[in-house]
Amino acid sequence: MDFLPLNNWIEYDSKPLVIAGPCSAETEEQVMATARQIATIPMVKVFRAGIWKPRTRPGGFEGVGKEGLQWLKKVKNETGLLTTVEVAKPEHVEQAVEAGIDILWIGARTVVNPFSVQELAEALAGIDIPILVKNPVNPDLTLWIGAIERMVKTGHNRIAAVHRGFSQLEKSNYRYPPLWEIPIELMRLMPGLPVICDPSHIGGSTSLIQPISQQALDLEMQGLMIETHIDPTHALTDAKQQLTPQSLVSILNSLIIRDSNGTYETERNLEVLRKDIDNIDDQMIQLLARRMEIAHEMGVYKCDHSITILQLRRWKELFADRINKGLLKGLDNRFLANLLRLVHEESIRIQTNVMCEKENKK
Ligand code: PEP
Ligand code: MN
Repeated sequence: MDFLPLNNWIEYDSKPLVIAGPCSAETEEQVMATARQIATIPMVKVFRAGIWKPRTRPGGFEGVGKEGLQWLKKVKNETGLLTTVEVAKPEHVEQAVEAGIDILWIGARTVVNPFSVQELAEALAGIDIPILVKNPVNPDLTLWIGAIERMVKTGHNRIAAVHRGFSQLEKSNYRYPPLWEIPIELMRLMPGLPVICDPSHIGGSTSLIQPISQQALDLEMQGLMIETHIDPTHALTDAKQQLTPQSLVSILNSLIIRDSNGTYETERNLEVLRKDIDNIDDQMIQLLARRMEIAHEMGVYKCDHSITILQLRRWKELFADRINKGLLKGLDNRFLANLLRLVHEESIRIQTNVMCEKENKK
């Protein structure tokens, strides 16, 4: 798939590209006051504002609607910033394009639904406009890829993915935990696709914007979309996560832009460490393969002796023992628990297969 590099469709001289603006357009004054301050920050090239707001429950502020598009037009004319809004329905596309909005974005709640994405793709066919595709709320990489593919199929190549974190049942400091492995896998599967991070929705609070942004840059994401409001405490949506333009400046100034290609010296040193990692991974794979062979043997034995596959007591003891050993070695508790569950799940799967095969042969 051919994606145009981000700097071919948005001019920006220093990395990263920054998109900033309020979660929602609320009044003309709020939009203009925010935009005027944002326009003085050289790194910010695009002004964002939600006009149609998808809310989880009805009854909240659902956006100012079409009227807000005129405010964005004014932002563009007065400040020279490019503008972007979220579109969720074909009529949004039509109205936004007519108002001269420069970039459209598809929100996390829309990307979960291929019917809606397809409708948008059809509405966008033949319209030459860049599109940002946010990840779906649930951690499903295929849905994200599917939405991007639907845009590509209707002839678009100015596309970027926006990583805004994922809903999870587990308690977390994040509003939507980043699950970095998902956007990393997206970058691997869709080389050339620009990825922009939205630390505002990932963090859900202003104190997390800086570290999340830094991590995104260290993972070679090319842009940041950061919610910024002239008066965050009185914002009608997402008040806790919106920065003032002043704090946006200090966060942007604090970010360290690292080189993706180091010097000869740093590369050589890294190469040595990479070799060690390669060796360890090889050993890990050998050991896992051996462990699964034993699981297979156990499956055969349990089947022959009519013993159940899962012995809860043994699993509990094993789990506690391995966690303790891992903690003593300085490994993270959650990481260990996830790893053990994954390995255990695979052993159970192998043993279940053995049982089924043997039963079928009877
Ligand atoms: C937003 O950007 O304000 C928004 C609604 O985002 P998301 O679709 O990521 O929830
Ligand atoms: Mn928001």
